[in-house]
Amino acid sequence: MSKGNYYYLTVSTDQDSYHYLHRKSCRRLPAKEDLMFIGAFHTLNQALSVARLNFKKVKPCIKCCIHYSEPVNHEKVRPVHHLPKEFL
Ligand SMILES: [Zn+2]
Repeated sequence: MSKGNYYYLTVSTDQDSYHYLHRKSCRRLPAKEDLMFIGAFHTLNQALSVARLNFKKVKPCIKCCIHYSEPVNHEKVRPVHHLPKEFL
């Protein structure tokens, strides 16, 4: 079993006061001084929810979290079935 990915949150925020969530392997990882270690998680969602417990405004980094995240399960939109005319 792997331990999952190490996730870090930036101390500084962007202009909308969002902290950024990064994986340890991120190419755009900021300097150590600007990072808080959040923990090791198997999924981005786990890391996000933990980060959001402490910081309300958290965005996953596009480079490491969105691009390489596990495929998103898109819910299939099913057409609404209307009752057959015989039932009306
Ligand atoms: Zn990143």
